[in-house]
Amino acid sequence: RAKEEGKNNYRIYDDTLNADVQEKIYIKNSLRRALENKEFEIYYQPQLEIKTRKIIGLEALIRWNHPKRGQIPPSIFIPIAEECGLIEPIGEWVLRTVCAQSKVWQNAGAEPIRVAVNLSARQFNQRNKLTELIKSILAETGLDPAYLELEITENLAMQDENAAALQELRNLNITISIDDFGTHYSSLSYLKRLPIDKIKIDRSFVNGISKEPKDEAIILAIMLMASHLGLTIIAEGVETPDQLFFLQQNHCHDIQGFLYYPPQQADTILRILNSHSPDSLLTAEKK
Ligand code: C2E
Ligand code: MG
Ligand code: MG
Ligand code: MG
Repeated sequence: RAKEEGKNNYRIYDDTLNADVQEKIYIKNSLRRALENKEFEIYYQPQLEIKTRKIIGLEALIRWNHPKRGQIPPSIFIPIAEECGLIEPIGEWVLRTVCAQSKVWQNAGAEPIRVAVNLSARQFNQRNKLTELIKSILAETGLDPAYLELEITENLAMQDENAAALQELRNLNITISIDDFGTHYSSLSYLKRLPIDKIKIDRSFVNGISKEPKDEAIILAIMLMASHLGLTIIAEGVETPDQLFFLQQNHCHDIQGFLYYPPQQADTILRILNSHSPDSLLTAEKK
């Protein structure tokens, strides 16, 4: 609807710009006010250890509740936020909210659990500031760094100038993982140089399990490499029992996906953390 409004406005002022550009300008303008209007929210998606079916972690995923449009997905607004310099304040808000939330769950009696936060390359470019920021947020919230994980992309890991900051974060006992592994055009040599703990197999490969032998071959190769490098491996986007079975047979450690839990609001997560029972999941699967 707003797209159309935009189009009409444009007819009046200038018809050379198309609807896509209009749309982007609209998003950009409302993004500027989103933080102060408290329109962002964090959802959390549980990650399970395959062997035990226990919840071993959560991934924090930002949501934008737009007052006129409803929820706008991060795949739309994160790239725009990166482009116009808004990702730094948004990223800071995410880190602070997640660390504070983590303590809230702990104070409510939940077993402490590690939460992963997605980082944008641009947040990293201000590298000293980022490590300082994270240190101060940890101090401020009192969260043990062992319960924080940072997800970075291959592109970010590849850049030599990020190595020192990553090492410093790792030295604090923060977990570092590579997101969407295998989907970017990058070399593997950073895996030798950087203190990486974990690789996340992209869901595009997981989606091909039992449909596309090439995807299975790539997953097996990634897992073999990860095991020789001593890295933890987690598969993203696990939706079917077939996919889980394949991953289990091939000794993948952890999974994340709609098969068990979609991303959830913070209060639902507390209930899940307190009630999750690996046994009931296992019996349900056998049925
Ligand atoms: P990602 O980090 O790879 O996150 C995983 C995405 O897969 C999430 O999409 C999640 O909802 C979705 N997903 C999880 N399980 C399944 C499944 O079984 N099937 C399918 N089809 N999808 C599944 P989401 O939440 O829309 O986020 C998209 C991307 O936006 C994220 O990809 C991440 O790159 C970015 N993002 C999200 N939150 C943040 C944030 O706080 N900061 C930054 N910089 N980027 C973020
Ligand atoms: Mg991620
Ligand atoms: Mg991913
Ligand atoms: Mg991604």
